[in-house]
Amino acid sequence: MKRICIIGGGISGLLAGALLAREGYEVEIFERKKRLGGRAISMKMDELNLEEYRSLLSNFNMNIYHSEPEAEILFEKGLLKGYKLDLGFHVIGGGERAINEWLSGFGKVRMIETKLAYIKEDGYEYPFLPLKDRIGFLPQILKLLLSGEKTMEELDPVPMSETIERYGKGKMKLTLEVFSRVIATVNDLNRISTGETLRSLKLLLRGSSPVSYPRGGLESIYAGLASFMKNKIHLGKPVREIVVEDNRVSKVVADRDHEFDAVISSLLAEDLSKILKGDIPKDYLKNLNSLTGTGSLCAYVSFRKIEPDLAGKTFLFIERDVGLEGNDVAGMIDFMTCLDRELSPRDRYLVQAYAICTPEEARKKKVLDKLMEIIESNLEKLMPGFKTYTNWILYLPVWHLDGVAKTIENKKPPLITPIENLYLVGDCTKAPGIGVNCAMSSAKLLHEIIKKSKD
Ligand SMILES: Cc1cc2nc3c(=O)[nH]c(=O)nc-3n(C[C@H](O)[C@H](O)[C@H](O)COP(=O)(O)OP(=O)(O)OC[C@H]3O[C@@H](n4cnc5c(N)ncnc54)[C@H](O)[C@@H]3O)c2cc1C
Repeated sequence: MKRICIIGGGISGLLAGALLAREGYEVEIFERKKRLGGRAISMKMDELNLEEYRSLLSNFNMNIYHSEPEAEILFEKGLLKGYKLDLGFHVIGGGERAINEWLSGFGKVRMIETKLAYIKEDGYEYPFLPLKDRIGFLPQILKLLLSGEKTMEELDPVPMSETIERYGKGKMKLTLEVFSRVIATVNDLNRISTGETLRSLKLLLRGSSPVSYPRGGLESIYAGLASFMKNKIHLGKPVREIVVEDNRVSKVVADRDHEFDAVISSLLAEDLSKILKGDIPKDYLKNLNSLTGTGSLCAYVSFRKIEPDLAGKTFLFIERDVGLEGNDVAGMIDFMTCLDRELSPRDRYLVQAYAICTPEEARKKKVLDKLMEIIESNLEKLMPGFKTYTNWILYLPVWHLDGVAKTIENKKPPLITPIENLYLVGDCTKAPGIGVNCAMSSAKLLHEIIKKSKD
């Protein structure tokens, strides 16, 4: 195997490409858009008008649901000038050490790291897991760290509701309830997979801190990879077909027909199934088409001032008995971004937040209104009268956030497919971690698989 085609220039495609190119493979990346980064992009708002912004969001299953002031005014009055916004809420699991281990040799990312806080009726608890709780949880944490993949696989079909009923008491119960929801981006504990949650928790516990945010926005994570790969990327060239003959990819159809020894897809599962042509095992296609993603309502808020104690912290919340799927709604409000002066004008503070819902709920007005109310009531608990300090607030629903939800009904596809020379990477695959972590860990794992097959 010498010549490798990578479909998609998001984080997973870029990292897989860079690792393999460094190994001596001839790698070419095809990206359908004129920009890299996929779902992990940072947008310089000075460079976009409203129409362009809306069109960019729609490419990623998002829109502007509501803003104050209205979106037209935000753009006409230049209120977004000087801001750099990620596609939606983005906080990365694990700290600087974890990310830089993956990126080793392709530039370094400086991360703002934090511990998690938890919003209560009368303020907040920081850190959410102080030393005394962590010591209390130590036996379970050690058991988790020492448990192998076989145990995780046995726990894949077990819903978190069952696990919580068995092991969750007091603070442990709350910890499992909130962590499993934000790890899975799913509110319904009956659907969240215990194995998937524990795999991701394991990865988080390895990091130097539970969550972090890249200085300069998400694009700084892939900037080094993009410059390493610059001569190997075809931008604005969608792959239209992956043709399979005799259980091998015989050609990749983009601007013209291309032949490669191996093909790596980083696409969303349903997008991959649409371009696979030829003799594909029916069960495989059926599974790809059955996989479901996650949804949320994301929010960006620009403040004139913030309470100094909040700066740099990230807050979890659960709103109880809301009546949506799962009954409770979990989410986060992140004040790490307001420490990064590259993301907003000097005298402004950027805060990001999200509330979880299903992809279907993310299209319903009644649900979105409820989620806006939830985000605002939690902001109010942190900063009473927060609207007095607000320059603008922007609400963006997303109905395909994570590639595949970590639920018991989703059978994530492994990196090795039933087609001999076709491989997968990305957050749709059976690799550990949440979102960006999953995308990066899949690329690292696939690199090891391909390297081993060469030895
Ligand atoms: C609003 C939002 C908020 C999120 N928040 C978080 C968060 O807080 N933390 C976190 O860890 N993750 C978060 N995520 C998820 C995270 O962004 C993704 O997990 C990660 O970026 C996935 O990277 P990827 O390389 O697997 O896939 P993608 O980024 O989707 O890359 C796939 C690439 O393939 C390209 N492509 C598609 N079809 C074709 C084709 N036919 N030919 C060529 N190219 C093609 C696409 O344009 C894209 O660039 C969020 C996602 C969204 C949308």
